[in-house]
Amino acid sequence: MMKGTVMSGEMDKPLISRRLVDSDGSLAEVPKEAPKVGILGSGDFARSLATRLVGSGFSVVVGSRNPKRTAGLFPSLAQVTFQEEAVSSPEVIFVAVFREHYSSLCSLADQLAGKILVDVSNPTEKERLQHRQSNAEYLASLFPACTVVKAFNVISAWALQAGPRDGNRQVLICGDQLEAKHTVSEMARAMGFTPLDMGSLASAREVEAIPLRLLPSWKVPTLLALGLFVCFYAYNFIRDVLQPYIRKDENKFYKMPLSVVNTTLPCVAYVLLSLVYLPGVLAAALQLRRGTKYQRFPDWLDHWLQHRKQIGLLSFFFAMLHALYSFCLPLRRSHRYDLVNLAVKQVLANKSRLWVEEEVWRMEIYLSLGVLALGMLSLLAVTSIPSIANSLNWKEFSFVQSTLGFVALMLSTMHTLTYGWTRAFEENHYKFYLPPTFTLTLLLPCVIILAKGLFLLPCLSHRLTKIRRGWERDGAVKFMLPAGHTQGEKTSHV
Ligand code: NAP
Repeated sequence: MMKGTVMSGEMDKPLISRRLVDSDGSLAEVPKEAPKVGILGSGDFARSLATRLVGSGFSVVVGSRNPKRTAGLFPSLAQVTFQEEAVSSPEVIFVAVFREHYSSLCSLADQLAGKILVDVSNPTEKERLQHRQSNAEYLASLFPACTVVKAFNVISAWALQAGPRDGNRQVLICGDQLEAKHTVSEMARAMGFTPLDMGSLASAREVEAIPLRLLPSWKVPTLLALGLFVCFYAYNFIRDVLQPYIRKDENKFYKMPLSVVNTTLPCVAYVLLSLVYLPGVLAAALQLRRGTKYQRFPDWLDHWLQHRKQIGLLSFFFAMLHALYSFCLPLRRSHRYDLVNLAVKQVLANKSRLWVEEEVWRMEIYLSLGVLALGMLSLLAVTSIPSIANSLNWKEFSFVQSTLGFVALMLSTMHTLTYGWTRAFEENHYKFYLPPTFTLTLLLPCVIILAKGLFLLPCLSHRLTKIRRGWERDGAVKFMLPAGHTQGEKTSHV
């Protein structure tokens, strides 16, 4: 048997007193002997797990094929020994090896019989497609005399090492035996994590899929934002770079990294913001048409409604980038040349003062509206952070997200209109017969503002309010019928 060398003292100290971790929440006596836990494997996960277990007051014994080589990497309080020796006394053994090496543990089957095996493994995407059986179920099939519990796979080695403050605190647990799940749950709690029962071992496949996901709810909104960016960039490139090059032989390719990007960013931010409010308008129109709220929206509309938060946050991101890029515009050398050239032209034309009152006002107003719109979007973004959203009641949250969100859309529309001013009506701004970009971006928000205005008309707003309170056009609301009314006469659409 071997002992590991001394690791940093901080990690050896119990982070969570064993006195605080009783399941019923009461202060229990410190057990005379620390509960023993085994770990098979001496890799990254095993090391972090051992460190956290030791820090949480457990007695840890690590089973390695080569304990001499790996002992020095573990905390001094953890025993590092051969696999056979490590599994002899603990009742709970963590299997911190990859699936393909499970079979190499079969020689330990007799010693492991009757014990709890905690499967912490995560398959790769390829492995998941390759095997129909989850890693935990496979382990259970190799060791039928053991109770397998799936747990800790959603916690990274880093999160274990850094403590429960970093990363997700939830440990998803599944298994077929309640008692075994309870034991592992208590261990997770003692280590400062929050156990979450995911049901039987059959759920292991689902639990193993979780770490493979990469921001699933952001996929469609991000693709949408990127698609919009590419389309608007191409449009602006044709208008601002290609057209002058072809028609006037002017080389404006230098505009590509900054100027064209900065013309594109607000378009994407503005269209995305409209896409946050468009599904609400469509849903209201659908409810008005159907005369009921008890009919499911089509799937595409349902998904769209569920992704509004992500679309809104992406809109804020693009608006922020637009603000930063705009600050950089005067720093460009091309801008300085333009200013000097303008001054020289002025001197040559013998003009003492260049001041266009209308232009000055237009710029002051559109910049101010832009800053206000960005401020409003920041408020929406901040209130969508879960900890802040949780501190608001339903009405406050809906006021910020719905009313202030609509104010942000109005401010952005006014910012765009004052930016565009009369350009939509000037022929020289139609390059290659393409209208100025801002006119395109205005289409969607104008439809939304118009629709919202229509919904405010007393006849529509009254009807919509009634529908949202359960009224149905044909009076088919089952729950509103007086007692004793004949069944089947009037039924809900749901
Ligand atoms: P690792 O660093 O490669 O360690 C794997 C360990 O398996 C080795 O150190 C080895 O220890 C042991 N092992 C036992 N039998 C083996 C054999 N026949 N061939 C090769 N190695 C054998 O991997 P890891 O990152 O610690 O991951 C271990 C398990 O934890 C995996 O199932 C992984 O999916 C899961 N996990 C890891 C993380 C993470 O952040 N790393 C997070 C969640 C889950 P000995 O040489 O001492 O026997």
